[in-house]
Amino acid sequence: MSENTDLIVGIHDLPRRPGTMKQLAREVDAPADLGVEMIRVPAGSPVQLELTLESAGEGVLVRGTAEAQLEGECVRCLGPIAYSDTFDVEELYFYAGRDAEEDSNFIEDDEIDLEPALREGIVLNLPINPICKPECLGLCQVCGFDLNEDPAHAHEATTDGRWAALRGLDLA
Ligand SMILES: [Zn+2]
Ligand SMILES: [Zn+2]
Repeated sequence: MSENTDLIVGIHDLPRRPGTMKQLAREVDAPADLGVEMIRVPAGSPVQLELTLESAGEGVLVRGTAEAQLEGECVRCLGPIAYSDTFDVEELYFYAGRDAEEDSNFIEDDEIDLEPALREGIVLNLPINPICKPECLGLCQVCGFDLNEDPAHAHEATTDGRWAALRGLDLA
């Protein structure tokens, strides 16, 4: 079970009759390690959940959205990235004793732990190579200068003989 009690939802008031639903709107603290190498939801930051819990025969289907803040580093210029995004969440939780895959989520003591649903919905949909803006120019390969600050940045020293010759032709 999640250590974050905000993420535990009691379903004792949700009849097992298929199709019965319960709405859940709740702000929770983001659990730790909700992210990938270059981008993540900061631990403890607010996540807005808008979920529907629906009795679905063998278990309860949790469906809806999670709006979260994201923090990361641009893979091109290494500058900070910060924005919020809304993720689709959809996860089936099986009633205890149901025949299901080993890595399935189960309902324990009439409670659902939303953490795996959040991980599934958010972490798997984060960009692997986040960028600060689509037109980010990245860093100079020679000296590491941020090319966004001066797109014309160049190094004279990299000019080789061939280019010098062409330049000579231009001048002629
Ligand atoms: Zn960038
Ligand atoms: Zn440079």
